[in-house]
Amino acid sequence: MVNICCIGAGYVGGPTMAVIALKCPSVKVVVVDIAVSRINAWNSDQLPIYEPGLDEVVKQCRGKNLFFSTDVEKHVREADIVFVSVNTPTKTRGLGAGKAADLTYWESAARMIADVAVSDKIVVEKSTVPVKTAEAIEKILTHNSKGIKFQILSNPEFLAEGTAIQDLFNPDRVLIGGRETPGGQKAVQELKNVYAQWVPEDRILTTNLWSAELSKLAANAFLAQRISSVNAMSALCEATGANVSQVAHAVGKDTRIGPKFLNASVGFGGSCFQKDILNLVYICECNGLHEVANYWKQVIKINDYQKSRFVNRVVSSMFNTVSGKKVAVLGFAFKKDTGDTRETPAIDVCKGLVGDKALLSIFDPQVTEEQVMRDLAMRKFDWDHPAHLQPMSPTATKEVSVCWDAYEATKDAHAVCILTEWEEFKSLDYKKIFDGMRKPAFVFDGRNVVDVDKLREIGFIVYSIGKPLDP
Ligand code: NAD
Repeated sequence: MVNICCIGAGYVGGPTMAVIALKCPSVKVVVVDIAVSRINAWNSDQLPIYEPGLDEVVKQCRGKNLFFSTDVEKHVREADIVFVSVNTPTKTRGLGAGKAADLTYWESAARMIADVAVSDKIVVEKSTVPVKTAEAIEKILTHNSKGIKFQILSNPEFLAEGTAIQDLFNPDRVLIGGRETPGGQKAVQELKNVYAQWVPEDRILTTNLWSAELSKLAANAFLAQRISSVNAMSALCEATGANVSQVAHAVGKDTRIGPKFLNASVGFGGSCFQKDILNLVYICECNGLHEVANYWKQVIKINDYQKSRFVNRVVSSMFNTVSGKKVAVLGFAFKKDTGDTRETPAIDVCKGLVGDKALLSIFDPQVTEEQVMRDLAMRKFDWDHPAHLQPMSPTATKEVSVCWDAYEATKDAHAVCILTEWEEFKSLDYKKIFDGMRKPAFVFDGRNVVDVDKLREIGFIVYSIGKPLDP
């Protein structure tokens, strides 16, 4: 029986390993983490993350060939293959602050593996890391081990939160990068054998280490760039009377472009897109490629512009002030079907509205009050002063309340801002919401989920990203 251990029981480690356990009944999979509460949650009925279909997968395997533990060293020692899926956030201090990836967690995991290993191991980079990280990891492992052989593989994860289980069951591709040596290729084959249990052979791509590492950064940069492209177009649509949904449909019909990922919105979020582009920018700068770095920076700048454009639209539409006005915010997660709020555009939009003294009442079906308050107290990245992250006003969270449902959030509000595309926001009783609101009642749809004509018929003044404005 192959023994797999995964260090890091987060949004990637948990679902990925649960699916490997399900699809490979003869493989023992242990997911370890230093966060005791997270492991306790994985061992309970209330999993630490919300992801459609995840509960069922975990229930089927947990206690059979899938285990969650805080005994990190024991399970790493026993494993043949060690996945490392720890967080790799943006550095906040020192060299490269605000751009470079912080590999502190990765380095400490690597040192621990070297310390505890008593047999040869394959170490798999599951986290998203800068290109050439494997070289650094190899150095740390080989200089610290006692004659034990390690093979490092890069196997970046392409799942998207909200569809993680579907993506893992049926991936567009699995990418495995390894050294072009006999040992490296043997390790690649061993990992391939695991995925081959359910992934068709032609979808398992093998490359050299650096291509695999860079492909993950490139994929996220391309995806984010696509969102910034359609969002840039949405601003032009609003200025000219074109409709961004019609433009995106027409553009996407070109088979060279394709229809997916062309929804205009208030901006992209999530823990990865911004972080990985910043990382790419930093790597380009370190290699003297400043024009290339500037190109990718622009993707983030457009994203920031889109969020501030939205805030400005809200304030200017409401007679140039939201001071003391209740504004309902529907949706706080960075996308539907997840409770993840990392880097959600809602943070910047809410901060912008509070900056203009709005009173916010926030509802999201999967986000807790604790998350909202923590996120709104967080600091903001500033391009011009990357080493000095901008602090949030200490009083800001006093103007924010979190509600149990959309009707409570919108009661007596002057405006509704839709910031996450939850399906349930499409079928709300907007007549009831309208009746409970102050007049004129505004809807600012940052995700193009509402039926604009229907809401205008009810009496709302409606702004929807990239759509012709209320006449
Ligand atoms: P996460 O923060 O949810 O999980 C990381 C976990 O690692 C945490 O629970 C933390 O406690 C644990 N950890 C850190 N150091 C540890 C150590 N030394 N020993 C044991 N546990 C340790 O992060 P995530 O969203 O799962 O992302 C993990 C990596 O995968 C990141 O590099 C990310 O960029 C990448 N990634 C994320 C996604 C996504 O959608 N979230 C998708 C693809 C790739």
